Amino acid sequence: TSGTTTFPLKFSLTPSTAARTEIEREEILADPGFGKKFTDHMVAIDWTLDEGWHNARVMPYGPLQLDPASSVLHYGQEIFEGLKAYRHADGSIWTFRPEKNAERLQRSARRLALPELSEADFIESIRQLVAVDGDWVPSAPETSLYLRPFMIANESFLGVRAAHQVGYYVIASPAGAYFADGVAPIKIWLSTEYSRAGRGGTGAAKCGGNYAASLLPQMQAYDNGCAQVLFLDGETSSRIDELGGMNVFFVHGTDTLVTPRLTGSILEGVTRDSILQLARDRGLTVQERDVTLGEWQDGVASGAITEVFACGTAAVVTPISQLKGPNLSIGDPDAPAGEITMALRQELTDIQYGRLPDRHGWLT
Ligand code: PMP
Repeated sequence: TSGTTTFPLKFSLTPSTAARTEIEREEILADPGFGKKFTDHMVAIDWTLDEGWHNARVMPYGPLQLDPASSVLHYGQEIFEGLKAYRHADGSIWTFRPEKNAERLQRSARRLALPELSEADFIESIRQLVAVDGDWVPSAPETSLYLRPFMIANESFLGVRAAHQVGYYVIASPAGAYFADGVAPIKIWLSTEYSRAGRGGTGAAKCGGNYAASLLPQMQAYDNGCAQVLFLDGETSSRIDELGGMNVFFVHGTDTLVTPRLTGSILEGVTRDSILQLARDRGLTVQERDVTLGEWQDGVASGAITEVFACGTAAVVTPISQLKGPNLSIGDPDAPAGEITMALRQELTDIQYGRLPDRHGWLT
């Protein structure tokens, strides 16, 4: 937050001389997968302690030049965001609640002792990239352009302190339909050995280190036939926190939606917040509170818990059929997707893709 920043930032544009041809682009957009292919341009903004944010630019996509002593490479001072641009039937391009991502990036920046980027500059950085690479937003059903803003400490200094030089970037990657053959319930793996966050830690920040710590348990999840890993809270190891990359919800009966409250160790998902709003709009009772592993086990056994689902930007809403762990199995692996789960998923994607009116003003 130190340094002088001109407000708002003005972006310069250096067009790529190596942009893919329309034919090459369409070939990629026909089967983009996820996170493998990137658009022709990227955004970069520099920050120094003396100058604040400056040199905002749209430039050709390409490798970053980093001094080997850059502090991000040694101490992991890094944060990121993830959001999508959606193409509507009329060809227009929209992002979903980008101000929530801007706020979260600011919260993450505070926790990682990185400089805050203003909400206006964050949204403008997204707008600039989408304006230049708009042709990369696919139009097939359930596809999108995934946007990845991130911030790194790029000062060449091996002392352990908050960096005095930082870079902010935005890259974009076309994303195919997550569930190309219809929404399939997933099995998830309970990590009993590892947690992703502790009291006073970085669990509520979107920083690379959290994900580095989740890779080993995530590998164990794959080894056990599960798509995601479920973490308990690091203090009591009895409360449900969240999945490696998604928040988790429980449907009780036909009218109550429960999700773990924000304790400081959970990432505050934009999808989570939106689902809570849509559920309230439907007249469901919404509870943000502690949920224990025991409640999940007993609730499924008694029939009190009727549906479980995960949510996040990448897969929107994903039904959970079963929780597995060492000597543990809750739920039926062949259970179909729940009704409320699928209704919420449908409504949210209908708003994102402009098939329903944007009654909450969520689209930019
Ligand atoms: N929890 C974690 C750990 C995540 O990485 C994500 C994905 N950003 C989420 C929850 C869901 O957040 P969002 O709905 O904003 O994508």
